[in-house]
This record gives sequence, C-alpha cells and structure tokens, in this order.
Amino acid sequence: MSAAPARSGIRFDRVSVAYSGTVVLDALDLTVEPGEVMALLGPSGSGKTTALRAVAGFVRPVSGRVFIGERDVTGLPPHQRGIGMVVQQYALFPHLRVADNVAFGLKAQKAARAEIPGRVAEALEMVGMGEYARRYPRELSGGQQQRVAIARALAIRPGVLLLDEPLSALDAQLRSGMLAELARLHRELPDVSILYVTHDQVEALTLADRIAVMDRARLQDCGTPQELYRAPKSEFTASFVGNANLLAVTVGEAGVTFGDAELKVDTGAAGVGASATLCVRPHLVGLGDGPNSLTGKVSEVQWRGATHRLYVEVAGQPVKADLRELKAPPSIGDEVTLHFAPEDAVLLSAGVSKDG
Ligand code: ADP
Ligand code: MG
Repeated sequence: MSAAPARSGIRFDRVSVAYSGTVVLDALDLTVEPGEVMALLGPSGSGKTTALRAVAGFVRPVSGRVFIGERDVTGLPPHQRGIGMVVQQYALFPHLRVADNVAFGLKAQKAARAEIPGRVAEALEMVGMGEYARRYPRELSGGQQQRVAIARALAIRPGVLLLDEPLSALDAQLRSGMLAELARLHRELPDVSILYVTHDQVEALTLADRIAVMDRARLQDCGTPQELYRAPKSEFTASFVGNANLLAVTVGEAGVTFGDAELKVDTGAAGVGASATLCVRPHLVGLGDGPNSLTGKVSEVQWRGATHRLYVEVAGQPVKADLRELKAPPSIGDEVTLHFAPEDAVLLSAGVSKDG
C-alpha cells in the first residue's frame, strides 16, 4: 500500500509552475498543517488549480518542492502520493455502477480484494449514499454524483484530500447543504488535511481553518477567516474576503482625513501625511451622527431582503452602508450622515508620505 502516513500535512516550498515560459504559480510557500482545512481563494486564473495539481502530481513544478507529511513527493507519480481528489465536474465513469466507481481507486492501489466491498460500503455510508451502490451515475442527481465522487476520493483513506471547486456545478441551495456535509465529514475525519480550491468567499469562510488568498500567480495573504476579515493586510484581501469600503485617506496626527472629514482611527505606524486606504465594512456603518461621521448624497438604494444597501457619495467616492431594520429608507439625492466606530476601521497599505 502506498497511502501516506496518517496525519500528514502539505508543504509547498517555493513552488513555481510555468506553461510555455509563462509563470502561473510564482514561488508558493504554504504549509497546510495535519488535519487542517486550508482554502485557496482567489479569482479565476490566479493559479489555484495549478497549485492543487502540483500536490496531486499532475503538473511538475519548474522549481521548488512539494511535501506530503515528511515525504518529498515532487518526483512521485500521482498514484503513489496517497491523496484523494475531487474536481468540479463529477468525473464519474458513466459505464460503472456507483460501487465500482468508488472501488476504482482501491483497485488501482492494489488493495486486498477481500477488503474492497467493505471499504466501498464504508465510504458510501460516510456521504449518505449507502443505498445507491447499484445505480449508474446517470441515475443520480448532480449533488448525489458529487457525493459519490467524494466517497471515491475517501475510499483510499487518504491523508490528504484535494477539492477543486467541488460545489461550483451545483445550484445555490444544494451548495449550502453540501457545505454543511463537508464540514460534518471533516469533523468525522479530523486527521485528513484538506486543500480546498474555491473562488467563493462564503465557502472559504464557512469551511476553512485558514484561507490562502491568491492573485496573479502569487500568495497575497494567509490567515484565519477572522484575521483576514477583521485585519486584512491588503486591499485585495479586504475586497475579496467580505465586502469593503476602501477609502482613499491621508494620515493625520490623531486619525485620517477623508475629503473634509476628520476620522478618528488607529493609524499604527503610518507616518503623518502619508496616503493610505481605510477599510470599513459596510455592515459596520450606521445611519445618523456618530463618532466618525460622513455626510453626502445618496446615489443608490438597494433593498436586499434583510438589509438596505445605501451608496452615499462622500468626497467623490461611493460609501456603502448595509443597514438593518430601516423603516423609512432615504431616497436617491437625499443628504444623509453615516457613521462608524473608530475600532471598526482598519488602515491598509500606508503609502509614501506626501511631503517625502
Ligand atoms: P485558477 O484555478 O485559479 O482559475 P489555474 O491554475 O487553472 O487558475 O490557471 C492559472 C493560469 O494558468 C491561467 O492563466 C491559465 O490560463 C493557465 N493555465 C492553466 N493550465 C494551463 C495549461 N495546461 N496550459 C497553459 N496554460 C494553462
Ligand atoms: Mg481552477
């Protein structure tokens, strides 16, 4: 058997991948701890799938090493890496029954013949598909097919599970059900390390212990969902993980100036006179006067069920506010005042001082 030892993490050590001379993964350094769920989050084309395929062994890095547990697997073929993988399209063999699909990896791995039926049943039970062993893929819904694909990946008892946008082909309602299923599966298999590729921040925030944010072939940021949400290090992270107002401000003595407004915020080590970006989450902006007030004209009002989203033009920039329980929403063109608490703002990327 070539399964990875139990409790193996994943380590990228300056892994670069290029296609015909174009670098699509640039010196990725990232460690997934044993038993951890790491989401690789980023827009389309940012290199997420490439990173995953480098772990699976379907793409060879031009430089750098990939480790699974203590093992350097950079030169190993995929089937010797002890990984399970699930991709976006169900990728089940249409001519094989569910049970034979799930048995496929076990046979490839040369598992003892007598063990296979038990292992197949166990994997199907885990995803709630025990009753469907005799069906063909075409007799299953999309969600059921994806459960079978997950069972197939789990049957080999992998130390590492790679999931590439596994829910993106499903409709919204099914997706949220499957998200809960995946969370439950991970609670049942706490030793399995999971690398979960997605462009969907809700999936990343819901499932991941940590999120690695990718953009243009590079790792931009990495942290727990709370860290990235509350204290993003870059504008990219701030806008990709949650909604954000990104206000162009100038650092002052005891806060920042934004248009005519003086705002009290923690400026950390930013130098006076520097231009910087202030990140304020729309749901932390309130209507009316407060400690940090911004006055402007309403340019757009959107009703979103639980909230109203207001766009208010302040200093030439639209400030977004998500307001709950708004009995009488303002109209477009009305002048309104918004406020936020000093502790709810994060100063990002202080630039060069304007005087220097
Ligand atoms: P993501 O999964 O984040 O959407 P990918 O890792 O699939 O991004 O792709 C990263 C970049 O590499 C993209 O610009 C894509 O066009 C390119 N790419 C991916 N696979 C290949 C390939 N087999 N040949 C050439 N270019 C590729
Ligand atoms: Mg992809």
